[in-house]
Amino acid sequence: MLCPRDGTILISPEESGKSVFSRNGIFHCPTCAGLALNSEAASSEICSKKLESMHDGFMDEGTPTDICCPFCEVKMKVRDFAFRKIDGSLTELIEIDGCPECSSFWLDSGELQRLSPPNGDKNENTDSEARALAVVFDLLFHLPFVLL
Ligand SMILES: [Zn+2]
Ligand SMILES: [Zn+2]
Repeated sequence: MLCPRDGTILISPEESGKSVFSRNGIFHCPTCAGLALNSEAASSEICSKKLESMHDGFMDEGTPTDICCPFCEVKMKVRDFAFRKIDGSLTELIEIDGCPECSSFWLDSGELQRLSPPNGDKNENTDSEARALAVVFDLLFHLPFVLL
């Protein structure tokens, strides 16, 4: 399976060795750090349900893109999402590419970084990277989303 942006072979959830990736069915690109999510690859029921409900927003709506779904090669669509935080406010808008056929999504790493909590730590060690990812996935999978 190839990165829809740069054609690099994606690393599967099992190969990544990160439980947050295998739980949430996440394939990642070692070149651009983009993430491909797929509801069938997710081992967590919460995650796979969330991805399926997000998929509903891509079947009939969304703006066509030129990138192909890494799972089924159909042209993906893009929509703006925000997530509703516990205090009722919304996170910043992020663009998510979704496949109109299968329950798959593509996240550019730049979009993910906009969701990351600003912890002021410029020291990119793997621990803080993993922590930031875990927070991002908490946002993605535990907060209700709003389609804009
Ligand atoms: Zn890539
Ligand atoms: Zn697809």
